[in-house]
Amino acid sequence: MKHRYLIALGSNQRHARHGSPRQVLQAAVAALGSKVDAVSRVIDTAPLGPSRRRYANAAVVMRSKRDPERMLAKLKAIERKFGRRRGGMRWGPRVLDLDIILWDHGMWSTPGLNVPHISFRSRKFVLGPAAAIAPGWHDPVSGLSLAQLNARLTRSLT
Ligand code: ADP
Ligand code: MG
Repeated sequence: MKHRYLIALGSNQRHARHGSPRQVLQAAVAALGSKVDAVSRVIDTAPLGPSRRRYANAAVVMRSKRDPERMLAKLKAIERKFGRRRGGMRWGPRVLDLDIILWDHGMWSTPGLNVPHISFRSRKFVLGPAAAIAPGWHDPVSGLSLAQLNARLTRSLT
């Protein structure tokens, strides 16, 4: 497989069949397919924005032949399969959110898609799981590894 991806997973809504957000993420990892090389543990995160529901978050490293555009299309198809509706309240309840955080070919920017993901460096719920499975992966923008980015964030006072 040509490309390597770091994908972040989040859920803060139960699914009728799969169950709790944690179980949704387990099912989502299975839906990503057989080319998953590493899966973090699932962490429990306080809500961001107006929602009061807690999040389950995780990260995976996987391989794919797809470029980022086609990878995002695949991720969105999986989100839809899990019942996610677009156009809802931003940061509101969602069954499944799949984001491309990094890929192994540096930067990619097209309308509607930026890799690296623009806000991952300030999100503990992304960097914690990501640094656990790929500590030596370097962010092409800051030049820092995921371990360094995570340490910087955990040490900061905010
Ligand atoms: P959130 O910011 O909470 O992930 P959405 O999942 O609704 O919100 O994403 C909004 C849009 O962000 C997506 O439709 C997608 O086009 C765009 N986007 C830009 N960069 C990325 C990326 N790296 N990974 C996933 N989506 C991205
Ligand atoms: Mg998203």
